[in-house]
This record gives sequence, structure tokens and C-alpha cells, in this order.
Amino acid sequence: MPHDALPKIKAFKVRALRVPMTEAHKTASGEITESPLVLLDILTDNGISGHSMVFTYTPLALEPTAQLIRNFEELLVGDPLAPAAIEQKLAQRFRLLGPQGLVGIALAAIDMALWDALARLHEVSLLQLLGAGERPVRAYGAVGYDGVDGSARVAERWAKRGFQGIKAKIGYATVQQDVAVIRAMRAACGDDMAIMVDYNQSLTPTDAIERMRVLDEEGLTWVEEPTLAHDYVGHARIASASKTPIQCGENWWGTLDLQHAIAAGASDFLMPDVMKIGGVSGWQRTAALAQVHGLRVSSHLWPEISAQLLCCTPTAHWLEYADWWNPVLAEPIRIDNGMAMIDGALGSGVTWNEDAVHKYSV
Ligand SMILES: [Mg+2]
Repeated sequence: MPHDALPKIKAFKVRALRVPMTEAHKTASGEITESPLVLLDILTDNGISGHSMVFTYTPLALEPTAQLIRNFEELLVGDPLAPAAIEQKLAQRFRLLGPQGLVGIALAAIDMALWDALARLHEVSLLQLLGAGERPVRAYGAVGYDGVDGSARVAERWAKRGFQGIKAKIGYATVQQDVAVIRAMRAACGDDMAIMVDYNQSLTPTDAIERMRVLDEEGLTWVEEPTLAHDYVGHARIASASKTPIQCGENWWGTLDLQHAIAAGASDFLMPDVMKIGGVSGWQRTAALAQVHGLRVSSHLWPEISAQLLCCTPTAHWLEYADWWNPVLAEPIRIDNGMAMIDGALGSGVTWNEDAVHKYSV
């Protein structure tokens, strides 16, 4: 299709939502009880719409993020539906302010919606647009900061659904308590279950190295974010002192954070968040860098679009499954025996349950 024959961007539709969680999500660094979400529809002049959703972590950032995304509309109306070209245009435009934080969230919302629209224009899934083949994607289930009995109970629930991996929040007062949680989950699920744990940045590097000496005996698949996400040197110290792989990435903003972390040896595996890493465009660069460095890639949240992107990732590892946003999706990703099934999705697989969107709109 010649560039000037592409549909043109006509309008943005931006909605701010507060979606309550069915169960509070507890971590060593705080509790999440609701999801503040901004939904973006980018409408084109041939009737195709692209959809995306971004998560602002706190409701305090919800309206500012929605307004910021609305402000981008005037920059893009009339532009052809060419996501990579628009990404370059916006990167240049925001070079002085910088691409992190709310700007990064807004840029990712736009990028994901544009790629979704382009796939819908060609009547294919996102992964087909990117040249990949569809396949079931191995997923793990989440266990909160729920203590010994609570963690074991939730872990067993995932095992009964056929999941082959679980990830629990830890970071209790002592490493012995962390170990008690891990062993209770192991007892509930059996030796074949892959068990990952997440400190949510709660330790100093020195404390983390001490805990890792104990955790190294537990057969864990990975230990996630033991210290501050952007302390690449600290993470590298922990990784080199540990047998267990260290996992990081959900808090890295864009390709340069990723590159700096890889260069520092901060993480044995990579776990980008499709929003913070820069949408579909940022993910593609991540997949390429990970392949070059031989690093396995797992996803963070957004199971619908992430499952498709993992199909496009040569070193794909695990999909993080989360059902937090299922209420607002017309067709949440289907899980069959612990595998995420893409099932011939159109675009990135994201369409709205309009009744729920209306109900949770603010
Ligand atoms: Mg995490």
C-alpha cells in the first residue's frame, strides 16, 4: 500500500477508568486495590479504530495521564497510520522533556493503539502483522504477599488450573519466613511447578546477597527485583553472587534503560512491561536486543498483547498472567491448562466491554 493511501488519523477517544480488584494485590512495597486505567481509541478516516489501555498505578495520575494523551491528538490528526514513523516523530518532539513517566505512558498508549489499528486494517492479528506464527504461550499465575497458608492456598489453585509456573510476592521480615512461604507452595504444588519470587525492590543489595545465599537452595526459577529497579550495579552484584537467576525489567523505561541494564549485567533474564518499554515498537527492539545477548524474555501484565508479542520474541520465556482488567475487555485472553491461547485474535486482541467501561468511567 503506498504511504499516501494509508488511512489518516481522524480523532482520539480517551476514557479514564477506576476498576476495582476482585482481591487486593499485596506486595512488599505496598498494596493495589484498584486499577486506574486509561483507554485509548484512535479513529482513522476509513472507519478502523485501534485500541490500547495503559495503567497509571495510582489514581492520582489517572486524569493527568488521560489529559496528556488527549493533548497528543492535535499533533497526529491527519498523519498516515504508520506507527514506526509516528514513533520517530514523537520521539523527536519529546526529546527535551524526555520519554519517561507520564509521557512514556502516553507514547506507549499511542504506539499500541496504532499497531492495533494497522493489524485491524489488514484483518490480521498483531503477531501476523509482525510476521510471527501463532502458538499457545506458557503462562504463570500470581501469588500475593499472603503469608504461608494464603500463598500455599493460591498456589494450589493455579496448579489445579494446569499452570506450570507461579510467582509469589515475598520480602517478609526474615529470609526464614520467605523460605517457609516457598516451601509451603512447593508442598502444595509438587516438584514440577516452576516457582518464581518477587521482592518488588524492597531490599538493599547487601541484604539481598545475604538472602540469596539461603534462597539458592530452594530451586527457584528466578528471583525478581531484589533491589531498586534502576540500581543496575546493585543488581549486577546480586546476580553475580547468586546461583538463582535474577529477573528484572518491568520498571525500565524504554530501550536505553534496557541497554544500560544489559550492559551492567543487572539481570539474567528480561521482563519488559509493554507500556514502560515503549509499546509494540519498544518491545520489538527489546526482542532484538534479547536475542543478540541470548537473554530470555518474559512479560509483565497486559497478557493479551504480551502473549502475541512473545510469539514474535525469539527468546520468549514466560507470560505473566493477570486477570485484573478482564472486566473491561470484551474477550480476555483464554487460558487452557496453563497456556494462553491467542485463538485467531484480531489486532492486539483488545476490545472493550462497553457496559463495564461505562460503569467504571470517572
Ligand atoms: Mg514484579
